[in-house]
Amino acid sequence: MSYVVAVRTLCEFTAKTGDLDLRFTPAPTAQQGIAGHGTVVSRRGKHYESEVALSGLYKQLRVRGRADGYDPGFNRVEEIKTYRGDLHAMPDNHRQLHWAQVKVYAWLLCQSRGLKEINVALVYFDIGTQKETMLAEKYSAEALELYFDQLCERFVAWAGQEAAHRLTRDSALTGLAFPHAEFRPGQRHLAETVYKAALSARHLMAQAPTGIGKTVATIFPLLKASPGQKIDKIFFLAAKTSGRSLALDAIDLIRAGRDQQAPVLPLRVLELVARDKACEHPDKACHGESCPLARGFYDRVAAARQAAVHAGALDQQALRAIALAHQVCPYYLSQELVRWSDIVVGDYNYYFDVSAMLYGLTVENDWRVAVLVDEAHNMVERARKMYSAELDQRSFRFARKSAPKSLKTALDRVNRQWNELYRNQDGAYQVYHAIAEKFLFALQQAGTDITDLMTEEPESISPELQRFYFDAMQFSKLAEVFGEHSMFDITRDTQPGSKVQATLCIRNIVPAPFLKQRFATAHSTTLFSATLGPHHFYADMLGLPDDTAWIDVESPFIAQQLSVRIARTISTRYQHRTHSLSPIANLIAAQYASAPGNYLAFFSSFDYLKQVSDLFTERYPEIPVWQQSRGMDESAKNNFLARFNAGGQGIGFAVLGGAFAEGIDLPGDRLIGAFVATLGLPQVNPINEEMRQRMDVIFGKGYDYTYLYPGLQKVVQAAGRVIRTQEDKGFIHLIDDRFGRTDVLELLPAWWQVQ
Ligand code: SF4
Repeated sequence: MSYVVAVRTLCEFTAKTGDLDLRFTPAPTAQQGIAGHGTVVSRRGKHYESEVALSGLYKQLRVRGRADGYDPGFNRVEEIKTYRGDLHAMPDNHRQLHWAQVKVYAWLLCQSRGLKEINVALVYFDIGTQKETMLAEKYSAEALELYFDQLCERFVAWAGQEAAHRLTRDSALTGLAFPHAEFRPGQRHLAETVYKAALSARHLMAQAPTGIGKTVATIFPLLKASPGQKIDKIFFLAAKTSGRSLALDAIDLIRAGRDQQAPVLPLRVLELVARDKACEHPDKACHGESCPLARGFYDRVAAARQAAVHAGALDQQALRAIALAHQVCPYYLSQELVRWSDIVVGDYNYYFDVSAMLYGLTVENDWRVAVLVDEAHNMVERARKMYSAELDQRSFRFARKSAPKSLKTALDRVNRQWNELYRNQDGAYQVYHAIAEKFLFALQQAGTDITDLMTEEPESISPELQRFYFDAMQFSKLAEVFGEHSMFDITRDTQPGSKVQATLCIRNIVPAPFLKQRFATAHSTTLFSATLGPHHFYADMLGLPDDTAWIDVESPFIAQQLSVRIARTISTRYQHRTHSLSPIANLIAAQYASAPGNYLAFFSSFDYLKQVSDLFTERYPEIPVWQQSRGMDESAKNNFLARFNAGGQGIGFAVLGGAFAEGIDLPGDRLIGAFVATLGLPQVNPINEEMRQRMDVIFGKGYDYTYLYPGLQKVVQAAGRVIRTQEDKGFIHLIDDRFGRTDVLELLPAWWQVQ
């Protein structure tokens, strides 16, 4: 069996030595990188060949990749690298890696075209000056073959091990049995649909109720489908840490299987955690002169990698232990291990963000991946954030004060152009259809100057300036691709006594254009959640292809388990709030009197919550109450939840969309009912109104897409806390006359019998 490896992976594996060095290496944006490549290619003659696909064999190893360019006139193969700043500051091991790559391409080219010798060149293209620096050497085909063979020889044993692992893994997965004796109601339906979607290489949106074991029902079928579909990796992506833990538990269960005597499934599992959570030396920088775990990283990573792949499942703790035993950074070790893992469990951003690592590696290595998106109702908001950027003038001015003199001209220009942007703005908030070129130019110019200075005198850059720099880079990046999917708005802040300042925001509202390619790259993606309706809203927002399958898994719960009532005589509209306080307090008390127990009462804001709870306590002092407050820390949240003990009694007041409105599990009589005194509609403000208009133009459903669907999704999530198992019984009071509207009723779970 041959093993296929990308040129870059082969070279990184075998030719990288020395320190990990992430000292500021000024990277151009992706757009600039592509444009830079284009410029270099356009300067070559008409016979110049770009993106030359090449492949070659060494023993059982197939090495493949695309050389940036070949100039037949000069018989020269070129590897083009774009950069900013000082080329001399590039760490030596980066340069060595570039040489390794181009020499491998050179050999593959010699071999495919029967060349006896070839000129081998690294072309460094400076994005700022548009100048090229070429480093060239001539090699005989013989010498290149020897070099290629040496690299491959160092990799071939590993490749053999990997190929063997794949065979064992796939044969074990072919015979994989469901980890439980039986499927729960709805679970088989979900698992079969995920399996079929993987078999037909389609994407799937699955709305499936709580308690049916969604995590196992999505991971298991993908594992089963992997051998037949030649799926290289499964990415399980979660919005929160709790989602990752559930996935790791489910995978453990599947790995162990039902037969305790049988060997554990040979599956490599990796948990990815954010750098600030994985870092062992938060006070240090990621290079060998500062951090001991970066020093000699590449010299020790091979042994750590070997130990890690034999460990099987690596959650954060297990990975940390291996990393520390080999004295390498756990965070960067985890990045290395992605290549050699079967299942990767991490946050959404690893696949969907602007420069997402899992997506980048998938494209680079041509992996066939299946992606699972847990609690997918969070994706719209999360993706919007990934493709938005904000620049705050107050922070900028602060950073400017601390900047070295050499940046003065550039930063003054930014400030001037910034002021120009809102000079004629009358109101506090305004949306603009374009971002002034002059401002963007000033911002990019300042970015280039800061880049240069960061390379030459990194210690002269204050943390504030560095923060501004990264914000400005993100802003510039998104400005390059600004379009109908985003808004550009300026919020002026004119507090008396302080200087006028303005916040600039590129606000993504429809992430679809950015995410489309992410879905196109995956073999199959399943997005699942208990609340994913109406599905056209999510499909439109996220850019899922038209042939995406949809399944609404029937709930295992029955109407008799839950009494759902609408308080039609109460209005929670802002202008009716004061009148609503008394009837809401009385309604809660009446329900409590008829069925004492633990309840959650949800409101649209902390103010509203406080007004009702104050009145309630005054009128019904005998009923225990506890409230959610702003910015609760972990222990305060735990204390709030601890009040919901079995057999307990009282009312927990909370805000809709907050920490207690989703992701908490209070089965049995730990929670017997919920009051929802709001439709959860986002506030009517200039931003949302602008969004509504935009949604109207794009989808013809401005109000629904901006207000109604996001609001009701939150209501159903919150109400979903009440019934967690088939044994649970409970009450829901939907407090507002609008809950009786047909379009609203249609958005409530089908199994509810609303009175
Ligand atoms: S331990 Fe922290 S500082 Fe050191 S290399 Fe890793 S992430 Fe960077």
